[in-house]
Amino acid sequence: MLIRPIASGSAGNCYYISDGQNSLLLDAGIPLRRIMAGCGYGVTRVDGCLVTHAHGDHVKAAKDLARLGVDIYTSQGTIDKAGLEGHRIHPVKALERVSIGGYEVLPFDVEHDAPEPLGFLLRSVRTGEKLLYFTDTYYLRYTFKGVTHVMMEANYDPDTMEHNVMTGRIDVQRAKRTIGSHMSIDTAIQTLASFDLSRLQQVFLLHLSNDNSLADEFKRRVQALTGREVYLC
Ligand SMILES: [Zn+2]
Ligand SMILES: [Zn+2]
Repeated sequence: MLIRPIASGSAGNCYYISDGQNSLLLDAGIPLRRIMAGCGYGVTRVDGCLVTHAHGDHVKAAKDLARLGVDIYTSQGTIDKAGLEGHRIHPVKALERVSIGGYEVLPFDVEHDAPEPLGFLLRSVRTGEKLLYFTDTYYLRYTFKGVTHVMMEANYDPDTMEHNVMTGRIDVQRAKRTIGSHMSIDTAIQTLASFDLSRLQQVFLLHLSNDNSLADEFKRRVQALTGREVYLC
């Protein structure tokens, strides 16, 4: 599986994935021209775009992509909140499997301050590889078996954030919002440890906070747990 992060973080999220035959975009939270540049200008050849939720850093270019002819898959809650419409917009529901391009996709519910946010488990029919994608959730209620690629949020380090609040670098309200809507590295590690990792090949850590994360330490901890390739986005 080729995984190419085009953008990650609170300023915008978009990832390109391909199993060698079929390609998808995961989230579209940056301007269309940046997505096009990131896809080698082959954006109309992708088999679809999966959108997790209605915050701008994930949904920004969804309308533009639909206008270009790219099929968008997301929850009804996201469709309503983001005002998406037209025949390219396809509602999907948590725990109802759908077939998209050459992938079997299982959307699942996550915990975030947006209407009906989703994560996605994707299985390439061609290669059998299983990719798990979730971001913007303070907790994950599900566990997964046989995943080969994990793309997951590791937003903040609790101690670093506490230090930033104490020193006035970030305000208390912002810290509270982060705790109730984004995943800490501690929760990310516990979540990953709950999975069956026997087939795991790669982990991508996503959506790291600019102020509250420790990139090198996050990578080291996930590498120590999994013994696999770990990439920071
Ligand atoms: Zn986000
Ligand atoms: Zn969000």
